[in-house]
Amino acid sequence: MKIPKSTNRYCKYCRKYTTQRIAEVKGKERGSLKHGSIQRARKRGRGQGFGNKGKWGSKPPISKFKRTGAKISKKTNLKYICQTCKKTTVQPKGTRTKKLVIEQEK
Ligand SMILES: [Zn+2]
Repeated sequence: MKIPKSTNRYCKYCRKYTTQRIAEVKGKERGSLKHGSIQRARKRGRGQGFGNKGKWGSKPPISKFKRTGAKISKKTNLKYICQTCKKTTVQPKGTRTKKLVIEQEK
């Protein structure tokens, strides 16, 4: 998916439409809970009861639908930087796309 480098968007800080630069949010991807974190879940009052609740334990959850493979697309994670006040807003919802290209304007 190609997206423009900048766009006109409502800025909640300026309370009007401004030109905003689009950039990707860079950061670590959050993985699943670690094997050892069942202790943490117990402390927080979760992960108790009989059987694997589908989240914790040594074995993977028993699913009705078996996944055949990993998804090949990822959700976009964009931020909009207002050119007037230089404040950043993160997009509320990402859309699935295989490849993200931010077009460079000349
Ligand atoms: Zn602004």
